Amino acid sequence: MVDEGVMGVLETVRNRLGGESGTRYECRNCGVTTGRTAEQCPNCGSTEIAQYEF
Ligand SMILES: [Zn+2]
Repeated sequence: MVDEGVMGVLETVRNRLGGESGTRYECRNCGVTTGRTAEQCPNCGSTEIAQYEF
Protein backbone atom coordinates (compact mmCIF):
# COMPACT_ATOMS: atom_id res chain seq x y z
CA MET A 1 0.00 0.00 0.00
CA VAL A 2 2.95 2.30 0.66
CA ASP A 3 5.42 1.52 -2.10
CA GLU A 4 3.58 2.74 -5.15
CA GLY A 5 6.48 4.63 -6.71
CA VAL A 6 7.56 8.22 -6.26
CA MET A 7 4.09 9.69 -6.45
CA GLY A 8 2.81 7.23 -3.88
CA VAL A 9 5.69 7.97 -1.55
CA LEU A 10 5.21 11.71 -1.79
CA GLU A 11 1.54 11.28 -1.15
CA THR A 12 2.27 9.10 1.87
CA VAL A 13 4.74 11.61 3.30
CA ARG A 14 2.26 14.40 2.77
CA ASN A 15 -0.43 12.48 4.59
CA ARG A 16 1.66 11.66 7.62
CA LEU A 17 4.62 13.89 8.21
CA GLY A 18 7.29 12.12 10.15
CA GLY A 19 5.79 8.82 9.14
CA GLU A 20 7.45 5.44 9.07
CA SER A 21 8.43 4.19 5.63
CA GLY A 22 9.43 6.44 2.75
CA THR A 23 11.20 9.01 4.87
CA ARG A 24 14.67 9.06 6.29
CA TYR A 25 16.08 11.47 8.82
CA GLU A 26 19.70 12.42 8.83
CA CYS A 27 21.62 14.81 11.00
CA ARG A 28 22.96 17.78 9.08
CA ASN A 29 25.77 18.17 11.56
CA CYS A 30 27.29 14.69 11.84
CA GLY A 31 25.41 12.75 9.17
CA VAL A 32 23.97 10.12 11.47
CA THR A 33 20.78 8.50 10.22
CA THR A 34 18.13 8.49 12.89
CA GLY A 35 15.77 6.22 11.01
CA ARG A 36 12.64 7.61 12.55
CA THR A 37 11.21 10.96 13.49
CA ALA A 38 13.71 12.75 15.63
CA GLU A 39 13.85 16.35 16.74
CA GLN A 40 17.35 15.91 18.01
CA CYS A 41 20.32 13.91 16.83
CA PRO A 42 21.03 10.95 19.17
CA ASN A 43 24.71 11.22 18.35
CA CYS A 44 25.65 14.89 18.60
CA GLY A 45 22.48 16.47 19.98
CA SER A 46 21.99 18.78 17.00
CA THR A 47 18.45 19.78 16.13
CA GLU A 48 19.39 20.20 12.48
CA ILE A 49 17.74 17.05 11.16
CA ALA A 50 17.45 16.71 7.40
CA GLN A 51 14.47 14.87 6.00
CA TYR A 52 14.80 12.75 2.87
CA GLU A 53 12.03 11.08 0.95
CA PHE A 54 12.69 7.99 -1.10
ZN1 LIG B 1 24.35 14.61 14.72
